[in-house]
Amino acid sequence: MKLSDIGEFGFIDRIARNYPAGDASILKGIGDDTAVIPFSGNSVILLTTDQLIEGFHFCLDTIDGRKLGWKALAVNLSDIAAMGGTPIGFVLSLGIPAERTSVKFLDNFYQGLYWLGNKMGVELLGGDTSEGGERFIINISLLGKACKDKVVYRDGGQDEDDLYVTGRLGDAALGLKLVEAGGKQKFAGKLLDRHLTPMPRIREGKLLAERKVANAMIDISDGLLADLNHILVQSKIGAEIELSRLPLSKEFQVRAGEYTDNPLSLALGGGEDYELLFSVSSDKRGEVARLSRELTCPLTRIGRLSRHINGVVLKDENGRTKKAAPVGYDHFKTLKDLQKEK
Ligand code: ADP
Ligand code: MG
Repeated sequence: MKLSDIGEFGFIDRIARNYPAGDASILKGIGDDTAVIPFSGNSVILLTTDQLIEGFHFCLDTIDGRKLGWKALAVNLSDIAAMGGTPIGFVLSLGIPAERTSVKFLDNFYQGLYWLGNKMGVELLGGDTSEGGERFIINISLLGKACKDKVVYRDGGQDEDDLYVTGRLGDAALGLKLVEAGGKQKFAGKLLDRHLTPMPRIREGKLLAERKVANAMIDISDGLLADLNHILVQSKIGAEIELSRLPLSKEFQVRAGEYTDNPLSLALGGGEDYELLFSVSSDKRGEVARLSRELTCPLTRIGRLSRHINGVVLKDENGRTKKAAPVGYDHFKTLKDLQKEK
């Protein structure tokens, strides 16, 4: 059996099964956006790590150092946001192909990292540096904190909860297509920024947790359906998504048709939006609307959870439903296009 047969998530399940946390006081080990470790009194430490590898996550020809630094930190911050936590600080390990990396590029990398770090109130606390050989490799481990009884896990989804997302879906995946196509095009700047410099939803995640609005939450790194699936498996529930409710930006609506016959497949399956997907009891719609205004961030109801649904059902604008095929990014499998699943 090869790794590509079981895929990224099959592999992670295998590790979690074979090596469960031995210390019963650990509130969460493998299986959520961050580990959750008791600290003192009612506070917990959150710990997460994510890496970016040249050739897989970025191409040095199409990203400048500042944006790369930003993105490396942003993808980690997004996991703290998904638990409703506050980030504290991080360590950074770099594998650098020394012969072809300029010091100027590295200076720019740290500038981008610092810019986002300052904005989010996190400090660089240390790291490690080594030769990277063929590839530029970036690994960040980020520490955060939260109140024990406010942390939002993937397994908290309740029957008939509404499902919401922050912001807009699909822009980052479309931005990637624009990067691949190259050149300057209408709205390219905005869509490229959504792909290269995502803004982690720290403030949104924190308020959703502190006000006890969200029952379950995850950040969308691998695509809406793939990340929703983690909530569904862990909450032991199914979901219905209303396609006409998916929040699409004006830029997306204008440009997506040039790159795919099925723009919704980008919104459902394209990764790296780094928005938050969360479930809320349906009697809190007014509270979510108020929170959306307070945050000046769209919080869009896109569907619901249901014990009576197995997996995910997609409902179109005419009320017709069909079962969704699992789509999204898996590091060891190829991205399946929803089109092909039809
Ligand atoms: P995210 O997309 O939120 O960063 P992942 O899908 O990467 O989450 O990981 C899911 C869970 O699996 C997390 O708890 C993560 O810490 C854990 N995990 C991922 N890779 C490994 C690994 N190689 N060894 C142990 N745990 C892992
Ligand atoms: Mg995550």
